[in-house]
This record gives sequence, C-alpha cells and structure tokens, in this order.
Amino acid sequence: MQPLYIYNTLTRSKEVFQPINPPYVGLYVCGPTVYSDVHLGNCRTFISFDLICRYLRHLGYKVRYVRNITDAGHLEGDRDEGDDKFAKKARLEQLEPMEIVQKYTVGFRNIMARFNTVPPSIEPTATGHISEQIEMIKEIISNGFAYEKEGTVYFDVEKYSKEYNYGQLTNRKLEELLEGTRELHGQDEKKGRLDFALWIKAKPETLMQWPSPWGWGFPGWHIECSAMSRKYLGDTFDIHGGGMDLQATHHTNEIAQSKGCYHAEPVKYWMHTNMLTVNGARMSKSAGNGFLPNELFTGNHPLLEKGYSPMAVRFFMMQTHYRSTLDFSNEALQASEKGFERLMQSWKTLQTLEPSGTSDENIRAIQEACYAAMNDDFNSPVLIAQLFDAVRIINTANDKKLKVTVGDIQLLKDIYEHFVFDVLGLATEEETGKTSEALAEVMNMILDIRHKAKLEKNFALSDQIRDQLLAAGIQVKDSKEGSTWKLN
Ligand code: AMP
Ligand code: ZN
Repeated sequence: MQPLYIYNTLTRSKEVFQPINPPYVGLYVCGPTVYSDVHLGNCRTFISFDLICRYLRHLGYKVRYVRNITDAGHLEGDRDEGDDKFAKKARLEQLEPMEIVQKYTVGFRNIMARFNTVPPSIEPTATGHISEQIEMIKEIISNGFAYEKEGTVYFDVEKYSKEYNYGQLTNRKLEELLEGTRELHGQDEKKGRLDFALWIKAKPETLMQWPSPWGWGFPGWHIECSAMSRKYLGDTFDIHGGGMDLQATHHTNEIAQSKGCYHAEPVKYWMHTNMLTVNGARMSKSAGNGFLPNELFTGNHPLLEKGYSPMAVRFFMMQTHYRSTLDFSNEALQASEKGFERLMQSWKTLQTLEPSGTSDENIRAIQEACYAAMNDDFNSPVLIAQLFDAVRIINTANDKKLKVTVGDIQLLKDIYEHFVFDVLGLATEEETGKTSEALAEVMNMILDIRHKAKLEKNFALSDQIRDQLLAAGIQVKDSKEGSTWKLN
C-alpha cells in the first residue's frame, strides 16, 4: 500500500508522512475564540481536522489531539488594537467574561458532538496557561528577540529576521511583508512595523488581567498556542493545523515565538484548511454572513429553504477536499442530502443481502482505492466516489443482477465500517435518532424529578438541576404550562 502523503504548507509540497516518534503523533489545532457562537465556516475547519485525526487513528497512530480554547487576549483589531472581544461581549450581555467563555465553550462542544467529531485529547485554555506564556515571553526577551515598552512586550521581527526567515510559512520576503503594513505613527510604541505584542499592558478598566514582570496585563493573540503546544506536545511536534486565514499572521508569529524562544522548528507538517464561502465571500463573524449550525439544522434562516441534519451537513463538507474552497448553497446541500440518504439506504440493503454466487466485481480493488484516496492528502471526495461504487454493487446485487459471495458481503461491510463510519465519521439517522430519543426520555425523567422537588419546595435541588443542565448545554425554560428544554 502506498504511504500517507500530507500537503505541508511549510514546504509547499506533498510529503510522505513520517512522525517524529511513531506510533505517537502530536496534532495541534487552533481552536475557537469563545466570545460568540461558532459559525459553519469554523465548523468546517474543525470537521476537516476531525477527518484527519480519525484517519491517522484508523491507520494505527496514537494521536494526541490538542485543540485549544481561546478565552482571553483577543482584541478586535488584528494589530493589537481595539477592545477586548470578551470584555465587550460581557458588557453587552451583562455577564462576567468567564460566563461568556463558559456559555460559548459549552455551545461549541455541543455543536461538535452533533457533528459527531471526536473530542480532543486535551482542550487547554489561554487563561489556564498564563504562567507558561509569561515564562516563554521571558525567554524570548532574554534571547534578545523581544522588548518591553511601557508595560507592553513586543516581538522584534527585524532582529529575528537577521537569524531566521520570518516569512517562511507564506513564502514571502520581509520587504514584501513590510510593504503590506502601514507606517508607524509618532505615538506608536513598537520599533518595527511588523512587531507584534506578546504581552499587553492592562488599562485600569480591563476586566481580565494578570500580574507579570511587566506589570498587570494580558497575553497577546499568538503566544498561547506556542506555549500550550510546547507544553503538551514538546518543542517540535508533528502536525499543526488551522484555517488558511491563520497562516499569514497567527501561525507565522507562532513559529517566530517558538524559534525565538528555543531555536527549534516547532512543527514538522503545517496543514491549512480552505474556507467555507457564501456567494464566493468567506464566511466570517465580522462580515455578518455566518450561518449558525443550529440555523442550518432547523432551517431557520432567510437564505435556507429547509433544515438539514448534522450528518447531511457533515457529508456535504466531506464531498470537497479540505484544501479547496467550499461554497454554501441550497442546491449543493440538497444534492448532498440525497447522496447521504443513498449511502445510508445501501447500508440497510447490505444487511439483508444474501450470498448468490461468485461475482465479477473486484471489491477488494474498491477497498484499496479508498485507502489510496485517503493516503493522497486525505482526499475525501475521491473516497466518496469509491464508496458510491460500492453502493452501485450493493444495489445491483439486491436487484439480483449481480452475484455476490459471503466474502464480498463481508468486504462491503468492512468498507462501510472503516470508511463511512470510522473515517468519514458519518452515522446512520437511526443512530443519531436513537440518541435524541434516549435524550428526550432522560430529560422527561429529570424534569419530572425537578417538578416534584419544586412541589416539595426544595428549590435548592430544582435550581441545582437547572444549573447543572445548563452547564451540560441544556437550557430549561419554566412557564405556567410547565418546563421545556432545548440544547444550547
Ligand atoms: P476563530 O474562532 O475565528 O478563531 O476561528 C476558528 C477556526 O475557524 C480557525 O481555524 C479559522 O481559520 C477557521 N475559520 C474561520 N472562518 C472560516 C471559514 N469561513 N471557513 C473555514 N474555516 C474558517
Ligand atoms: Zn493558534
């Protein structure tokens, strides 16, 4: 069998995947910034890395999958300016910043579960790793690659560029990068136009701030990922991923921070997913063209003609390679929904298929082609085309126009188990339906217990049940008619 090839952004080529310390694989993916709901574009990136993690595990690698939660230090402007997004949202919703973080983290995990993604092995938060970030900044300063100005610490890109290639990830020269940035003003504290903040001085009204050798402040946008990936995966690890939009700034700066701190290349393979677009424009929080997954599931959005199940949406995403753009449209979703139903219908048919004789079809070749597709940089659309070849065989055999042996039937079942369920992470509607039925029953039972507690004036218990459900992502609403619940 051919080896696994991965497209490496760093070398701009497909390379044979050779982990640093097999069978272990360190995979770090930049996670969500939890000051608002994730949109479908964010989900595409996380679902792509879910496919990647699933396939690596399917091949037998022991993947430590780290996906962080950014819960501090994100300013509105990408250039270390503007309001803190968490503080702004906290004021708007009249909540504590950490309540905002909790609310959207829980919401994010629920959405990821509905898309049947595997949970990360470690989900570290920026606020939980302030001391690691401070230590790293101290090392960068002592290496001469950062400087402090009035309580803010900047990374010195010019100094770094004397030793290392700052634009290596995007293959751009320093002069080109400089051209793309604005001139410094007299009031600017930083020395160079490309310098970025590692630590930012807090204002008295800053809601989330921590003590540091440079006074009270909070970490810059990029340092958390350098500090946390190093802590959990080591100085140099196998795969680092995220959306393509992170390449030029966030990941470029991550590399600079890590090398500026410990002089080693932090990542062997950089992987970047392409964007989900709407009418050709990138889906983003700031552009206001973001669909929420729940709007898609319910069909409750002006641009949608109907709702789609999480599995149909997942299948829609898998039909495009992770490095190609994916444009969102009703027609494309409807076609995917039909394709997904056909795939699942054949799985049902397969359960009833009886051996009928020796077939002319080479089913093993389909299985090999499935592996070949995935080994070619996780090419899920080509994999799906192979799966539809299996669908054709199942349906023809069912119509008695093709003979199949016991071995053929088993092989077809293996293809489904391995590729449809394990690698693509799709689940039958029955399975997802069964889970929601079971959840509905459990919820009826819990709300019943809570209702009894209220009747007995045990408000402590009834409040505790409500709060714990909320922490688990289930919102209970009380009214005169009784209590209802919904997934957040
Ligand atoms: P954020 O919460 O904005 O930091 O984004 C979380 C992840 O989603 C990052 O890896 C982004 O690159 C990715 N992302 C943002 N917008 C899109 C999009 N339209 N399509 C695919 N991925 C996206
Ligand atoms: Zn990151």
